[in-house]
Amino acid sequence: MIAVVHHPDYVTEAPARSTYRWGKNGAIRDLLQAEGDRVGWHEPVAMPRAWLEAVHDPDYVAEVLAAQVPREKERRTGFPITAIVARRAAMVPGGTYLAALLALEHGFAANTAGGSHHALADTGAGYCVFNDLAIAAHRLIEEGRVERVAIVDCDVHQGDGTAALTAGHPQITTYSIHAAKNFPARKAQSTLDVALADGIGDEDYLDTLDTTLSGFLDAHRPDLILYQGGVDPFVDDRLGRLALSEDGLVRREQLIARLSAARALPVACTVGGGYGDDVMAIAARHVRVIMTLGGLLTQPPVAIAEQERGAGVVDA
Ligand SMILES: [Zn+2]
Repeated sequence: MIAVVHHPDYVTEAPARSTYRWGKNGAIRDLLQAEGDRVGWHEPVAMPRAWLEAVHDPDYVAEVLAAQVPREKERRTGFPITAIVARRAAMVPGGTYLAALLALEHGFAANTAGGSHHALADTGAGYCVFNDLAIAAHRLIEEGRVERVAIVDCDVHQGDGTAALTAGHPQITTYSIHAAKNFPARKAQSTLDVALADGIGDEDYLDTLDTTLSGFLDAHRPDLILYQGGVDPFVDDRLGRLALSEDGLVRREQLIARLSAARALPVACTVGGGYGDDVMAIAARHVRVIMTLGGLLTQPPVAIAEQERGAGVVDA
């Protein structure tokens, strides 16, 4: 059973003046519900304020939670921060954190939202309010759940906020593979950045990902991957500049699963970007990410039981 974290607060009406598609999270939930018994559902609680403040400027956290964000920051985020949006913004990092705990237990878990990798210390940006990846990573380490976390970001846009918010942290490393000419114009410095030329297709992308991510994981030896599985490298994505096919995206997840499984690394998956008019097609791509990774990385109860009994020992 694939562990999926979801909360009703993720699914909100689009606020006025929003340029972001808000229907995506509801469509992802519906498609996952159609998977029936393959999915086990978990509900998070909101991330406590202290953990939001561990990563973000307390003044900015206060602005968001009070739904009093200055217009300039709302413009940079891409939508107004209403009370409903604020509640969602605190819930999503709670979901990514819960997905990480479940991944440590089951090998894999997914949050049906999150991957808000552009959010910065004192402002939202690029449709991101709070940086769930950086917040969850900090909390997991502070609580002693893991020694080292790697944030692996395959969204077509660079994980600039994540890089900025975790820079210099000795136990958090960041990997971002993205289109060099895409948003954000001014890139931050991840532990490893892999900047791709426009129009890269399946074979070149997968070769580059395989080589660079293998080296990154071997160099930094994390205990857990927080994965930003954005589907905007897809060829027809409205905001992407790469040319991955539907099949290429599935092969990307198979590659992520192979590299993780080879190192016995649990993976907690977040949604990330995916843009265009056909919300159902985009949601289906996100669900394929979750089901592909979950199918390959979720440890069946029997395998866990056997591990506990010791390798090679099988009951008659
Ligand atoms: Zn993106």
